[in-house]
Formats: sequence, C-alpha cells, structure tokens
Amino acid sequence: MSDDGVAEVAARLAAARRRLRAAEASAGRPPGSVRLLLATKTMEAAVVRAALVADRDGTDRPAGELPVLVGENRVQELVAKAPELADLAPGWHVIGPLQSNKVNAALRWAACVQSVDDLALAERLQRRCEAVDRTLEVLVQVNVSGEATKSGVPPAAAADLAVRVAALDRLRLRGFMTIGARSPDEGVVRAGFAALRDVRDEVLARGAPGTADAGELSMGMSGDLEAAVAEGATLVRLGTAVFGARPAAPA
Ligand SMILES: *Cc1c(COP(=O)(O)O)cnc(C)c1O
Repeated sequence: MSDDGVAEVAARLAAARRRLRAAEASAGRPPGSVRLLLATKTMEAAVVRAALVADRDGTDRPAGELPVLVGENRVQELVAKAPELADLAPGWHVIGPLQSNKVNAALRWAACVQSVDDLALAERLQRRCEAVDRTLEVLVQVNVSGEATKSGVPPAAAADLAVRVAALDRLRLRGFMTIGARSPDEGVVRAGFAALRDVRDEVLARGAPGTADAGELSMGMSGDLEAAVAEGATLVRLGTAVFGARPAAPA
C-alpha cells in the first residue's frame, strides 16, 4: 500500500472519530461511550492494517477509549485476513450471516459473533465451543425494519431467543445488533434503533440467567451513526466512512 493510501486511511479514521465524538456530544453522552468497530468487508489486509496501526499509534484516540474492533461479514474473508493481522491482535467480530458449515472456521478467529438470529446457530456455536473448550461472546441480531433482505430475528421474538441463548453456558450474551432501516426518514431509522434498545431493556429487566451483561447495542453504520448514537448505541460499525467506497460487487 502506498504512503498516500496509508495517510488517507489514517485521516479518514480521525475524521470518523471526530464525527463520533460530535454525535456523542449532541446526544448528551460522554466522549468515548461508543466504541468503534471497523467493518472490513472487501478491504485488503494492508488497508485494514493501515487503520489498525493509525488507531494504535495515533494521537486522536482520547485517553481511556478502547481500541477499535474489526468485523467481517464473510468467513472466507475473515480466515484470509486475520492471520495477516495477527501481530496487531485485533478483536474480530463476525457481523454477517454465519452458515453452519462455516462455524468451525469462524471460531478460529472470532471473539464475538454478532449475527446470532436463531437457536440452531446458537446451539451449534455452543457445541463447537464445548469441543474446543472455550467461550464465545455473542450478540442477538434483530431485524428492526422488517425488510425481507435483512437477517435477524423479528423484534417480537428477540427477547425469548436472547434468554435461550444466554442459557447456553459456553456463550456469553453481550447484547444486541441491528442494521438500520433503509429509509430517508430519520424518524423511521431512529424508531428502529429505539426498538433494539427496548428489546435490550426488556431482557435486562427480566433478569434471566446469563443476561446480566447483555447491555451492548451494536447499531449505526456510516450513513446513520448519529441516529444510532442518539438512541443509545454502544458500538457503531463503520466501513465506508473509514475505508472509502467499496468496489462494486462482482456480477
Ligand atoms: C458493511 C457493513 C457495515 C458498514 O457499512 P458502511 O455503510 O460501509 O459503514 C456495518 N455492519 C454490517 C453488518 C455491514 O455489513
């Protein structure tokens, strides 16, 4: 990667952080209360490295704020990039649909799976964790917009699923994830994020075993991070804001 390319990624990351700080401030939330996850799909390992090094060495990360996390949609990309970035030891999250035949490969690298949206997947993750004697952080993905193209459990079924996932002893339920509504209406987008917060609050209020640490709200991307932060996001997932436009998907 060229020096210019590295500098550009670093500058975009700094700008994304400023945007996040501004969103926290206008939502009346303390600086650093929302963590940043870099959504690295389609980006080469060298580009991700530039962002991780800028995060580690840069001066724009406020003292006490946690380092960025990284998230991959496709297991194939995860297993290709993670070894190349192992020296930087980023925390990898799976943020895309996880097919059952990819669970073993994903668990070689993932610290967290954010896309748990049915019990069968959760049980498969549990069994794999038993086999390799580890635990795994998970988020339950909720489809707050009801759009057919989006993964996730419907909001009305989300709390029950979360309670059952939390009962699996190898899985640590940390909270909830959603992809915001694809709408130009800010009110619609915010209502979706508020619905995810309601699910979380319901689960915390029920107090079922294993749910005490389920406070995380992974919501907000490059186009809607302000709305998500205003509705209580604790983790935003940014791709294009940090890496620039993705190449068009192959036909
Ligand atoms: C691609 C992706 C993101 C980041 O999207 P941008 O609009 O590029 O910021 C976040 N979350 C998920 C699940 C994604 O697939």
